[in-house]
Amino acid sequence: MSERYDAVVVGGGPNGLAAAITIARAGRSVALFEAASTVGGGARSAALTLPGFLHDVCSAVHPLGAASPFFATLPLERRGLRWIEPPIALGHPLDDGSVALVHREIDATAATFGSRADAAAYRRLLGPIVRDWPALAPDVLAPIRLPHRPAEALGLARFGLLAAQPASRLTRRFEGQRARALLGGCAAHGSLQLDAALTGAFALVLLAAAHAVGWPIAEGGSGRITEALAVELAALGGKIVPDHRVTHASELPAHRAALVDLTPRQLLAIAGDRLPGSYASALRRYRYGPGSFKLDLALDGPIPCRNPELAEAGTVHLGGTFEEIASSEAAVHRGRAPERPFVLLAQQSLFDATRAPTGRHTAWAYCHVPNGAAVDMTEPIVRQIERFAPGFRDRILAVHAMGPAELEAHDANLVGGDIGAGLHDLGHVLAPALSWRDPYATPDPRIFLCSASTPPGPGVHGMPGYFAARSALRRALR
Ligand SMILES: Cc1cc2nc3c(=O)[nH]c(=O)nc-3n(C[C@H](O)[C@H](O)[C@H](O)COP(=O)(O)OP(=O)(O)OC[C@H]3O[C@@H](n4cnc5c(N)ncnc54)[C@H](O)[C@@H]3O)c2cc1C
Repeated sequence: MSERYDAVVVGGGPNGLAAAITIARAGRSVALFEAASTVGGGARSAALTLPGFLHDVCSAVHPLGAASPFFATLPLERRGLRWIEPPIALGHPLDDGSVALVHREIDATAATFGSRADAAAYRRLLGPIVRDWPALAPDVLAPIRLPHRPAEALGLARFGLLAAQPASRLTRRFEGQRARALLGGCAAHGSLQLDAALTGAFALVLLAAAHAVGWPIAEGGSGRITEALAVELAALGGKIVPDHRVTHASELPAHRAALVDLTPRQLLAIAGDRLPGSYASALRRYRYGPGSFKLDLALDGPIPCRNPELAEAGTVHLGGTFEEIASSEAAVHRGRAPERPFVLLAQQSLFDATRAPTGRHTAWAYCHVPNGAAVDMTEPIVRQIERFAPGFRDRILAVHAMGPAELEAHDANLVGGDIGAGLHDLGHVLAPALSWRDPYATPDPRIFLCSASTPPGPGVHGMPGYFAARSALRRALR
């Protein structure tokens, strides 16, 4: 290749695109190389089941996209993205017929717990975090750093002390099952055991985001998010090279900085010979989290949830009580596929008519399984949905399933089906394979890691890409 660029980016997921946009905005030339025929990574949409049904291949619901300080600086609406916010962000039904519902308002949410004490405890827990959210979000969605203004320090410290706790401890503030199950389901997004430190952070961030910005979906599918990013990159003069799987850094055109939207194991594969042995060993030791098993379904009607209020909820958590969810996640960490898995369900077509033909609907669902497990979870997931939506099975027109192997074949970053680009436990935070001072820089002054393996971690929000590009601009592109 005879071209020269200031920067090249390997991988066109949300973070590769965010990195490329940040470089291009700084007036530097950039080319992005993507293995698939289109960019998108974990934010793509496709007709996976039947003609006329549009499914989110990976990400579906975007509280962190709506909260992203980086996305807020981009003209994404002009580039074709429209967020749709379901009236209720999340519902969590229980077998006794009761349901916890997350509304935008804290009070309306607390009122669904069926306990005055729990309602007050929820207001005490979430109230200050939601009040401080505008100041907190830029620090929460960033590498660990000192707050910019001393006034922010108190709110951040208060949040940090709660977030560091295991979800199992946070739930002791509640007496009733509804609030406890709600917290547990949100914490389980972190793919950790619910008695592990930091699982509180997943619950608090997701619930605070629900109250502050909502849990929106993208009209026309999640692919619209990365399509809008790609249009913005092109408008800034960035080049996208699809259908190019980079197997070694030497095949890239001349550049001053390479930003790699891959996980550590893949960085090792394409550039290990350029990195010192100690760093290469740290990359080799990098730990991946559990895998996921995902279903997309075409339905001949809406999901017949027993609780009619759930027809207003974009996302539904199916797994019963806190204890049941905790035991499902613990089984995964012991290497077993749970018989009654915790299921994350989204019903986008109720709020977005572009997803299915009139009168028909889609369902998006996944559960955790051991990393790399070759197990078919179709029936356990359908059984869990049927448990809270009797008659669901009869509405299924077609099913598309992806286990860990299929997920990794779709996007090589999903190592063993790990959708989080690594195990984001306390060990990851305290001793990252990546250096504390600059988690994006590597010992090679021209190579930067910009994927969801770097802070602030997974989700479609572009913050790792943005911070990695800032690091590259500072260190290699001055
Ligand atoms: C099933 C599932 C459900 C999810 N649900 C949600 C959700 O609801 N909300 C949310 O916010 N997040 C969700 N996520 C997580 C989110 O998708 C990821 O955190 C996010 O996409 C990470 O972005 P990234 O740019 O770091 O990596 P990715 O999005 O994985 O992008 C990496 C890109 O690099 C490309 N690539 C890989 N190897 C090479 C190579 N050698 N050469 C060139 N290109 C290469 C890949 O094809 C891919 O396009 C989900 C993920 C999955 C899989």
